[in-house]
Amino acid sequence: MSNVTSVINPATEATIAETPIQGVDEVDAAVARSLGAGPAWRAMAPADRARLMRRFAAQVEEHGEELAQLETANVGKAIGESRDEVGMVAEVLYFYAGAVDKHRGATVPVAGGVDMTFHEPLGVVAAIVPWNFPIAITSWKVGPALATGNTIIVKPAEITPLTALRLADLALDAGIPEGVLQVVTGKGSVIGTRLSEHPDVAKVAFTGSTEVGREVMARASGTIKRVTLELGGKSASVIFANADLERAAAATPGGVFANAGQDCCARSRVLVQRPVFERYLGLLADAVDAWTVGDPTDPAIKMGPMVTEAHRKVVAGYLAEGMGEPGGGPVPTHTSGRVPDGPGFWFPPTVVAPAGVDWRMDREEIFGPVVAVIPFEDEEEAVRLANDTPYGLSGTIWTRDGARSLRMARAVQAGNLSVNSNSSVRVQTSFGGMKQSGFGRELGLEALASYSDVKNVFVSTDG
Ligand code: NAP
Ligand code: MG
Repeated sequence: MSNVTSVINPATEATIAETPIQGVDEVDAAVARSLGAGPAWRAMAPADRARLMRRFAAQVEEHGEELAQLETANVGKAIGESRDEVGMVAEVLYFYAGAVDKHRGATVPVAGGVDMTFHEPLGVVAAIVPWNFPIAITSWKVGPALATGNTIIVKPAEITPLTALRLADLALDAGIPEGVLQVVTGKGSVIGTRLSEHPDVAKVAFTGSTEVGREVMARASGTIKRVTLELGGKSASVIFANADLERAAAATPGGVFANAGQDCCARSRVLVQRPVFERYLGLLADAVDAWTVGDPTDPAIKMGPMVTEAHRKVVAGYLAEGMGEPGGGPVPTHTSGRVPDGPGFWFPPTVVAPAGVDWRMDREEIFGPVVAVIPFEDEEEAVRLANDTPYGLSGTIWTRDGARSLRMARAVQAGNLSVNSNSSVRVQTSFGGMKQSGFGRELGLEALASYSDVKNVFVSTDG
């Protein structure tokens, strides 16, 4: 068995790097280094820790184009998206650098003394990261973990390790001490499991599938590790008849085909109120035509390939003969775009309409550029359909009725909702799931809480 992973560019199918397949011994050594680096990192003056994090952010900015090109070469995502995501990484590091000396405790009015709270670091944090947003999601965990005084070990997805590895180099170049931020490479089934159960790992910050998240949570229970889980989604866009239909249709491709649909927040179900259903489909067809597929390094291109050939096949399976109506009818493909010839794991942006609410494609996270468009009658049915999934991550409400938008936003069970927008993720605001999309919040000031424990100290003032 080879002891390296060949890292493939999904747009060209060329091997672009080889990375070590590390094992349990290497993970254990990394955890020992992380433990060793902890005390000095925690003891550093907050202003100094913040300064190192700002230098790290500046390194990311300085190497922004290199990191964006690397992410596009490894994941196949459109270069414009990679540039935005790398830009966000720098913003995340600046944001949490600013939080280092602002994550304050409280004094609490009690009888007989003075009571105060401290936010104590947890220790060694393991970050387990998926392949769809490798560098962005790495930063969402690294930022708050380092700001609160933890050390961190990142385990990127086996197929997309390159930007996390480069990020660790840049941290060292910025002066962040050895052992504070490390990356281990290899297979989730070996090193991900080891990190999830290692007695000296205090917390696992996991982003990935619900299936693996369940396993991580079980393993972490052995030593009562803190766990945050950012898992899958099956989010809905709900379009009411009184919405700005042109705007909603023009925004639909970006809400579901961004990152080639390999996005936990993809609005892969579009619910459209019946009176505007046909008109919406006409507008959507034009928008899909403009969603060009091809060489992801070309800034004019909207969408690159699927991450692997195996994943392309999984996505295609949802559209195969017999996947429609129960009983085996065809899937009514309404429109689909064009893809390049030649090498690359291409898949066209595809609209299925009208889709049935009980089909596999409407129940499972496809994680590809496929959207199911489904009609609904009224607000009550819209809420019922939007919530009829084990997931609860994201979603959009399109309406010009302000009161309705607020009623819907409260009624839809999802951690992140937008009104008249597909925006899900911002540095300043919390991000995370309800139901089986996970728990814990990343980003915003909320993330600091899940990388620290509150310690309460009571000092008697009795003479
Ligand atoms: P995945 O198969 O669950 O893998 C995620 C990470 O876990 C990878 O680093 C993987 O390593 C590792 N892993 C695999 N098996 C493991 C195990 N038994 N124990 C510990 N770690 C293990 O997910 P994926 O296919 O990479 O990513 C797609 C999924 O991520 C989708 O479901 C998507 O919705 C979800 N996602 C969620 C969010 C969010 O914030 N909610 C964001 C992005 C993606 P290997 O690569 O080596 O197998
Ligand atoms: Mg996987």
